[in-house]
Amino acid sequence: MKGSETVAVVTGRGASRLRSGHPWVYRSDISEASGKAGDVIRVNDQRGRFLGRAFYNPESQISIRLVTRDDEPIDETWFNRKIEAATNYRETLKIDADAYRLIHGEADGLPGLVVDRYGDYVVLQVGSAAVERRLDWVTDPLIERLAPEGILARNDSTARKREGLDTELRGLFGEVPESVVVREGDVRYQADLWGGQKTGGFLDQRENHLAAGRYAKGRVLDVFSYTGGFALHAARQAEMVEAVDASEPALDAARVNAGLNGLENVSFTRANAFDLLRMRSDSGEWYDVVILDPPAFAKSKREVKKASRAYKEINLRAMKLLNPGGILITCSCSFHFSRELMEETLRSAAADAGRTMRVREWRGQSEDHPELLAAPETKYLKCAVLERV
Ligand code: SAH
Repeated sequence: MKGSETVAVVTGRGASRLRSGHPWVYRSDISEASGKAGDVIRVNDQRGRFLGRAFYNPESQISIRLVTRDDEPIDETWFNRKIEAATNYRETLKIDADAYRLIHGEADGLPGLVVDRYGDYVVLQVGSAAVERRLDWVTDPLIERLAPEGILARNDSTARKREGLDTELRGLFGEVPESVVVREGDVRYQADLWGGQKTGGFLDQRENHLAAGRYAKGRVLDVFSYTGGFALHAARQAEMVEAVDASEPALDAARVNAGLNGLENVSFTRANAFDLLRMRSDSGEWYDVVILDPPAFAKSKREVKKASRAYKEINLRAMKLLNPGGILITCSCSFHFSRELMEETLRSAAADAGRTMRVREWRGQSEDHPELLAAPETKYLKCAVLERV
């Protein structure tokens, strides 16, 4: 019944943003709205023209997340179709792993929903009130399509607070063990589904892990190794790999993972990456490959300057540590630290390190974490492969 539908009217700026293809409207760009958190509402421009239907949450900065530009109902069938399209897309990718992302929020047309598969288990993260209220419409088709042993809601991210949602960790279906062993190419690793970072692993780095395996040779230093995502692939090719992380539990897990793969050429060092890189370069150590995969140094626009200095410091040290012909694999997962800024920072690091670096590749997040062309926020992971010449 269109007449009784809740309507939000957006400002000129909100409307042109939606018309540009971006799915978000900020609270400040809404001129009139009723409705509660989690409602599906109709969005009009100021002249009453229909722009689409959206997930609505007045408690969130991003109050409107457009889900369709067509005049169609957002019902169980609609959710079913989206989930079907998302899972079909993953099938076309022929992913060489049994842990991967099935639904990547906005880029799969389901704002605020992340669904990851770890073998027989599914871990999801809900970041919008509208999805939270319709969770059965998500889990039912997943159970039907994937027949998982269990589904876990990893709703412990602080981002939920910004949506006015409580944080919780909850089994939604079947039984989900503490950790599961999954496969990524020729490597097996244990993912801690209930307590690990993200949903248990850095699935967005999967293709970069595999690429690192191809570049690996000689002596490899994997800095910010976590549970060994890069180190394990590198160790299959290289003579030796040293995995460095500040977290002992992460290194313990990395040790277990090396054992799972029968790799005896990996050593594990607990250290602050900044100190370790400085000491190693001061003492004239050298490596054939250095991998840098730090946590997001810039979590907001305000932190970009400080973050640039940190990125420059670790990259400069890493470049100094490279043999001629050596490879630097350097990542940034900060959306606010753009690709352009990263290039500029790497250029300045190379200049200060006195190194000539050749670009072998610019890589991004894995294909199962697609980017939405009109929403730059969905493109966050950058991975440069540079060679010292
Ligand atoms: N490379 C990993 C993911 C890295 S996540 C993979 O592909 O799976 C970032 C890691 O950096 C975390 O494990 C965290 O413990 C570590 N870390 C954060 N700050 C650090 C610091 N200053 N020194 C060393 N490690 C740090």
